[in-house]
Amino acid sequence: MIDFSLTDEQRMIQDAVRAFMKKEVMPYEQPLLHRALKGGSAELDKGELKALQKKAKEAGFWGIDTPEEYGGANVGPVAEALIHMETGKSFVNFKFGGSAMNVLFLLNEDQKPDYLIPVIQGERSAGFALSEPGVGSDARNIKATAVRQGKEWVLNGEKTWITNGNDADFVIAFFRTPEEGDANGVTAFLVDRAMGWKSSPIRMMGAHDPASLHFDNVRVPDRNVVGKVNDGFRVAMAFIYKNRGWILGGKNVGASERLLAMAMEQAENRVTFGKKLAERENIQFMIAESEAEIRAAKLLVLDCAWQASVDKDYRQASCVSKFFVANMANRVVDRVLQIHGGMGYAKEMPIEKWYRDLRIQRIWEGSDEMNLAWIFRSLREGRAQIGDVH
Ligand SMILES: Cc1cc2nc3c(=O)[nH]c(=O)nc-3n(C[C@H](O)[C@H](O)[C@H](O)COP(=O)(O)OP(=O)(O)OC[C@H]3O[C@@H](n4cnc5c(N)ncnc54)[C@H](O)[C@@H]3O)c2cc1C
Repeated sequence: MIDFSLTDEQRMIQDAVRAFMKKEVMPYEQPLLHRALKGGSAELDKGELKALQKKAKEAGFWGIDTPEEYGGANVGPVAEALIHMETGKSFVNFKFGGSAMNVLFLLNEDQKPDYLIPVIQGERSAGFALSEPGVGSDARNIKATAVRQGKEWVLNGEKTWITNGNDADFVIAFFRTPEEGDANGVTAFLVDRAMGWKSSPIRMMGAHDPASLHFDNVRVPDRNVVGKVNDGFRVAMAFIYKNRGWILGGKNVGASERLLAMAMEQAENRVTFGKKLAERENIQFMIAESEAEIRAAKLLVLDCAWQASVDKDYRQASCVSKFFVANMANRVVDRVLQIHGGMGYAKEMPIEKWYRDLRIQRIWEGSDEMNLAWIFRSLREGRAQIGDVH
């Protein structure tokens, strides 16, 4: 028997986050749009984000995906997905405090006090530095190198497109270590900004301006190696599938739901040639098609999160979810913009911002093509069966 109902606890969490978003976060939307119209930023600054996170903590939302031993709520993947669906309903770049990217939980006990706990506490911020100017999708081909010298490593090379790279106090960064017994070996390191790497910002089409990071003979102590030497890809992959499956997927479902609600309202209110847009069949079809796609996407996200929650191998579900949901959200925002006509394209409305912001979802954390390649390989190599969701 299949039962798709949420537990009482999951429903309670969903309702509480929805109420918090409405009361505390959505009121920032208009002021942020106006700030951007005057040449400022449409994103929350650090102070604004911290103030909201403090309010959220007081309301009981802190460390949603952080294990209890670190003081977190550890609500589980399905509730996490539901939370991201609610936070995704606003374009405001809000996220709850008390979390750390999951690779940091792989650190050893000596590393955690400097690189995990302060991130959970919001005292330090981190970045994940894998991509390079010449290498993105084929990440195994990175060129930056780490060479051992006594009890230190010397790092050289450039990382690019690094989210939070302009602000991060440290990064978990990946370097080729060919002198360590494997010509293709890659090792992960914890590298503080204070150790000497420099960042330069890159302006992008939408939110999420990343940075290029420059490593010029940066010296790192041996104790900052993450996991084992030449085992960097296992570390990198720990980060990727969760993000693909229900964090980005959840947010994109939430954004699409909010956008479609705006389209419904516009279709009811706008009259052309003596009739509401809602009475035109092509507009009805655009809305209905979006609704069908949102429902399919939501089930993919929740199924992936559920698979993770019962310790199944959720990698295929994660790639399917990432690919489908990112494309669905881009189709929905395009239709919603079209239904709004000129207003959809205007900066007074959030639609044009969402249109720009959502485009990255088809590129980062594995582009469309990389996810499709994985999906096909899994079928061909028998790791997944056609249509087998359980
Ligand atoms: C805003 C932003 C933030 C980012 N944040 C981070 C971060 O924090 N950390 C990090 O390490 N990276 C980050 N990235 C990098 C991101 O992961 C890469 O951009 C992504 O992996 C694609 O790599 P690429 O840009 O080098 O494109 P390429 O690998 O050059 O690919 C270009 C195009 O060709 C396609 N393609 C490539 N190979 C094939 C193939 N074999 N068959 C068919 N098609 C193919 C790709 O899908 C893509 O459409 C970020 C990028 C952006 C834009």
